Amino acid sequence: MSFIQTKSGEQIAVGKILCVGANYLDHIAEMNPGKTPAAPSEPVIFMKPSSAIVRTGGVIVRPDVPGEMHHEVELIAVISKRAKNLSEKEAVGYVLGYGVGLDLTLRDLQATAKKAGRPWTIAKGFDTSAVVSDIEDAGKVVRPYELELRLWVNDSLKQKGSTGGMIFKVPFIVAFLSKFFTLERGDIIYTGTPPGVGPLVDGDRVRAELGDVATVEARVVNG
Ligand code: MG
Repeated sequence: MSFIQTKSGEQIAVGKILCVGANYLDHIAEMNPGKTPAAPSEPVIFMKPSSAIVRTGGVIVRPDVPGEMHHEVELIAVISKRAKNLSEKEAVGYVLGYGVGLDLTLRDLQATAKKAGRPWTIAKGFDTSAVVSDIEDAGKVVRPYELELRLWVNDSLKQKGSTGGMIFKVPFIVAFLSKFFTLERGDIIYTGTPPGVGPLVDGDRVRAELGDVATVEARVVNG
């Protein structure tokens, strides 16, 4: 079983990790060079297993496969209690807190899977593919959509964006997910990445921030 921790020190068992892809228009643009980026009409959802979790300060183990492993910095939201079929208005009351997460992605494996119409599960769900900060109470995060997301690799700024750029915001995502999945305490939602994704290699140190709410760091080793 994997655990996350709140800033007040409470340990929470991790349930499902539900992730939104393609949630910032300028990241959609960088993934589709030469095309006019179009916002999806509803959230693109994929999952990671709870065994993918690494807490801040830990190690990202890059699987021994060809191709690149990319960093994606994201706002994450943690579910506080069991929920099903929530309205967008109700959904806010089911968010325990927010933090910053890294959605590690085996980009070339993902591209091959996409092209073949196959699932991305390995490319997104491998061990150590979900790095998470400690979680700040939702009540202390006054403006979750006015926060700067920034990510550095070896002290060089690689990703920078505002949570205001999210196409689908957390209440909509939580309500949408609750139509299909029973949400439970400890489920984590990754909400998509701003532009600037790129490769991580053996020995890299990666650090990211969600405004003044949360920070996460990890180092990369080859598996
Ligand atoms: Mg992502």
